[in-house]
Amino acid sequence: MHELSLCRGVLQQVTRIAEAHHAIAINAIHLHIGPLAGVEVELLERAFPLVSRGTIAEHATLEVTRSVVTIYCAKCGNRCEPKRLFICNSCHSSVTELLSGDEIRIENIVLKKRVQTDHVH
Ligand SMILES: [Zn+2]
Repeated sequence: MHELSLCRGVLQQVTRIAEAHHAIAINAIHLHIGPLAGVEVELLERAFPLVSRGTIAEHATLEVTRSVVTIYCAKCGNRCEPKRLFICNSCHSSVTELLSGDEIRIENIVLKKRVQTDHVH
């Protein structure tokens, strides 16, 4: 399952970030996923608790924002959310460049850090 390996990849990345910040847990993970990324968000959300069990992200809430497809038109310079895929809304040219819509991006994560305590002996 594609979503399962994607989950593992995300988990690896956030674990590295958490360790670099000396966090003891990850409270939340916020992802941006475009409609062209080929990800079933429901499957991803279902896979996450399975993959994160026993890890630093075990109790993290997974928040997914679905981003939109935007294109840049090389003919008229228009940037838009195309009504028809890859077709410019204003001049109907198909000479366009995909600006967003195929991304799987970790937007931010919320880390839990150890509470600082003074040790007095
Ligand atoms: Zn155009």
